[in-house]
Amino acid sequence: MKLFNTAERKIETLKTIEDGKVRIYTCGPTVYSAPHIGNFASYIYWDLLVRALKAEGYKVTRVLNLTDVGHLASDADDGEDKMEKGAKKEGKTVWEIADFYISKYMNDFHALNLVEPTKICRATDYIKEDMAAVDAMTKNGFTYETSDGIYFDTSKYNNYAKFANLDLENIKAGARVEFNDEKRNASDFAVWKFIKPGENHAMRWDYLGRPGYPGWHLECSTIIDTELGEPIDIHTGGIDHIPVHHTNEIAQTYAISGKKLANYWLHCNFINIDGQKISKSLGNIYTIEDLVERGFSPMDFKLWILQGHYQSDRNFTFESLDAAKNRRLNWRNRIALCLQNPGRDCGFTRESLQNVLSAVSNNLNSAEAFAIIDNSKLTYEDWVAIDELFGLNLINDSPDISDVQKALLKERKQAREAKDWQKSDDIRHELELQGITIKDGPTGQIWQYLN
Ligand SMILES: [Zn+2]
Repeated sequence: MKLFNTAERKIETLKTIEDGKVRIYTCGPTVYSAPHIGNFASYIYWDLLVRALKAEGYKVTRVLNLTDVGHLASDADDGEDKMEKGAKKEGKTVWEIADFYISKYMNDFHALNLVEPTKICRATDYIKEDMAAVDAMTKNGFTYETSDGIYFDTSKYNNYAKFANLDLENIKAGARVEFNDEKRNASDFAVWKFIKPGENHAMRWDYLGRPGYPGWHLECSTIIDTELGEPIDIHTGGIDHIPVHHTNEIAQTYAISGKKLANYWLHCNFINIDGQKISKSLGNIYTIEDLVERGFSPMDFKLWILQGHYQSDRNFTFESLDAAKNRRLNWRNRIALCLQNPGRDCGFTRESLQNVLSAVSNNLNSAEAFAIIDNSKLTYEDWVAIDELFGLNLINDSPDISDVQKALLKERKQAREAKDWQKSDDIRHELELQGITIKDGPTGQIWQYLN
């Protein structure tokens, strides 16, 4: 398996810490509003990563976190808390908001047939570990206290700028407008925030003799330490995580234990909608539910995502989703052909399936793999393997027709032989109402799925 490692800025062959085993951590969502299709793009790319590793025989252990606490509206440590904001807007408690959107997120997660992580961790279940982590960072001399929290002193970590190739001078210049003049360096960040007397903040824990809550970067360091142990093999996230969130995760873990956090870092790019950034003000936020309401399967969207590469910018349009839907229908009808002619659609050797696997092993090049699928003759068994690799529900959504339908087909064949065109058309019409259409060709009639 070759992957683009952000830390080394090049494609590298994966070497796992333990032979045949791979440990992965994925930064999950902040659960304060409905996840949209742009959020799910990354989870689809990482689903392919997990499936491809499994196809290569790796035993995958993967942890995903759910940020249900203390994620402020900006990467800086000010602005409104996203959870509090969501709760206020909907007249619910922050705990209700978290539960509600976690169940929404998991519904879509399952609708997209994404492989269930080994463990899904809620940030609020790791508060004790967070406190211990702040203790350790403080003991090791990496933090200082201000009036509003405990901050990480980034000047104490020599490699702070390395991962993201940060220009710290530039950050300093840009930060002059910031109002927090208690920070020693512009890139310093809160590992723990204090709640001021009178401040309305529902999620609060007592630490250092006063109420507060963890800084949002901290949970990933503590969850990885608790559940996987450093270094892990692969850490995944969006490219927006590189300069702040992942940079801070690396710094924290070093400050806590002196350890390296991860050996390989994978980052995916964003998707745009109709050439524009996804934003509330543009009204172009679509959820998986919205796509279903418009007549698409979540699998059509998954296939659309996998037609492109995780490192490229993508532009989502409903026309392109339509094309993905047709491609999937075409593949399902090739499976239907296999069902009708067992062993016949296999003019090729297993070579083409091997080529599909090789394309995916090459930095997850699913676009190339799909082109190979389009141009190869494949057996039913090949399709089963392809479905396992991409998780597109091709086999599940392509059932054989029923005995009653088979009997109708036989009847239609006899009607055509007797030149009873009316009856033949009636049967075709009846089957079309059941989602099956019939094509008459040189080898006789074949059935296909209509949608
Ligand atoms: Zn994270």
